[in-house]
Amino acid sequence: MSSLRIVSVHRELVADPSVHWHVSAIGIGAHPDRIDRWLTLPDALDAIDGGDHFYTIGDTSKMLARVHRSVCPLCLHHVIGSTSENVPDNNLHNLPSK
Ligand SMILES: [Zn+2]
Repeated sequence: MSSLRIVSVHRELVADPSVHWHVSAIGIGAHPDRIDRWLTLPDALDAIDGGDHFYTIGDTSKMLARVHRSVCPLCLHHVIGSTSENVPDNNLHNLPSK
């Protein structure tokens, strides 16, 4: 089990039932400027199920958000999302795509 910081994401457009975005891959790195490796969404879900913890840290706010397994409210697919409650810059969906 490990605790891994997500510093970048890839998004993909899903068209059904309406157009929306999913995070399709996550970039893991100890520092925001360097991605050590990429995990696809299925790999990330497997890792979460295996006990790994993922989180983001806001660039400006420096606040941590936990990333968890969730179900997309639109298409009901299994996805990952963050518990960004107070600030937008640690929201998984707002991370830069590199
Ligand atoms: Zn969806």
